[in-house]
Amino acid sequence: MDTQKKLAELLFPDITETPADMEAKFPERNLKEGARVTRLAPSPTGFLHFGNLFTGTVAYRTAKVTDGIFFVRVEDTDQKRKVEGAIEVMLDGLKAFDVVADEGVVGENEEKGNYGPYYQSQRKPIYHVFAKSLVEQDLAYPCFCSAEDLDEIRAAQENEPNKGYWGEYAKCRKLTLEEIENNIKEGKTWTLRLKSPGDLTKKCFFEDMIKGKIEMPENVQDVVLLKSDGIPTYHFAHAVDDHIMRTTHVIRGDEWMSSCPIHLQLFKCLGFKLPKFAHVSPIMKEENGNKRKLSKRKDPEAAVTFYVEQGYPKESVNEYIMTLMNSNFEDWRKTNKEAPLEAFPFNLKKMSVSGALFDMVKLNDISKNVISLMPAKKVYDYTAAWAKEYDKDFYELLTRDEEYSVNMLNIDREGPKPRKDIACFSEVKDYVSYFFNEIADLSIELPENITSDMAKEILDLYVEEYDASRDKDGWFAHIKEMCEKLGYTPNVKEYKKNPDAYKGHVGDVSTVIRLAVTGRKNTPDLYAIMQILGEEEVKSRLKKALA
Ligand code: GLU
Repeated sequence: MDTQKKLAELLFPDITETPADMEAKFPERNLKEGARVTRLAPSPTGFLHFGNLFTGTVAYRTAKVTDGIFFVRVEDTDQKRKVEGAIEVMLDGLKAFDVVADEGVVGENEEKGNYGPYYQSQRKPIYHVFAKSLVEQDLAYPCFCSAEDLDEIRAAQENEPNKGYWGEYAKCRKLTLEEIENNIKEGKTWTLRLKSPGDLTKKCFFEDMIKGKIEMPENVQDVVLLKSDGIPTYHFAHAVDDHIMRTTHVIRGDEWMSSCPIHLQLFKCLGFKLPKFAHVSPIMKEENGNKRKLSKRKDPEAAVTFYVEQGYPKESVNEYIMTLMNSNFEDWRKTNKEAPLEAFPFNLKKMSVSGALFDMVKLNDISKNVISLMPAKKVYDYTAAWAKEYDKDFYELLTRDEEYSVNMLNIDREGPKPRKDIACFSEVKDYVSYFFNEIADLSIELPENITSDMAKEILDLYVEEYDASRDKDGWFAHIKEMCEKLGYTPNVKEYKKNPDAYKGHVGDVSTVIRLAVTGRKNTPDLYAIMQILGEEEVKSRLKKALA
């Protein structure tokens, strides 16, 4: 047996399978030409950042527009960072916005697909097959350096522009098999390092699908592949997993950009075909004219739970994310108003290189529009689902009489020009509060141009003449009649021309009635509101207003 083989046996005595066995066990998927396999590879930190949802959506859509596969792999190699329940938080956050994996980790302790396990912590034997093979090929070696040894190397590198464990500094590179055997016999722990074939004077290249042509110096560092507990580092796990899980497009945050020379080299040493890379720039936020990353610490909207808690429907958030993903989406939307999001030809190459800008006002505008186009029953169902979770009292009121609530939500909806005034379901309670006496605030604050005597006069007449059986035209004709009787003009233009001839105009009369019935100066269609409240309730409110 040659030395390398002996060393490989010494380090990995239990590994009997070979890379060829792995290739056979995890063959490429039988997908149609051009289908892309993408993944989201979150670490279970217990926090799902909007950026994770964004990158996940990019990966998801990339797979979907090509009839490919999107899978979720949990990168839980750092056991110290593990948080209880974190997988659930993450998957729930993704699922809330329809980013659902075809394969991989689909629930806490629930996996689907033939390329697993999809938890990195359970893939140790697979990593070791490839690690053993690298040792056999003299492309990896055990390193016994302690923290003190590494400090010493660092101290010796004070004037060295290229710091780190490489070349002549990589002292364990030169250990003989005998020395290694002795170290192991003595019980010394080891990490496995790449024997980097890199050359400092050379460059490596790749074409990033978002950032374009990338050129960087080759990697020369003997990076750690396996930690002393045999668990892989991110770099090694990424190369092995994305190859053997047959990822065609690695879509990830651009903080990994600088590690690409290591990754390119690893893929080469391992004999793997290089996947395509797309490095997604972070979502930015503008603050006092400066741009910075959307921050978990400073921005509540950085947490995906924020959108769930506020009750933004997935349709709105997804629509908004699409505007951040491809700037041509909005033009497409203008000409494809009714089309489902899935019909948009999302293109990785059209993503922002500098980082899309998060804009709450825009999200709200988009969401108002999206909600305005929903049928009332859908708004009702969504609001009820939200309230059940986040506002139990309101849930009780809302669901007490479903028909009443759906009618209420249908005012100025389902027509050609629906009102765009609800951005998220947590706003509904306040928006409709006057429909429920338990939460209505019917106190009246008259506009400056209307005295309480004027208001009383209007309401007195209205109570007297109120007839709930009038249809909408009849109702409005009656208000106009009241104007004539009370010295107001039904014609606003006429009032503007000749203000001294009248007490006010039709708007003033209806404002007083509106205030008495709803406690508000502005509401959707007052006639519809009164129809839903019902004759008895309207009369009672008018009388209370007079009291
Ligand atoms: N676990 C890594 C992260 O959360 C994944 C990076 C990748 O997608 O490869 O940043």
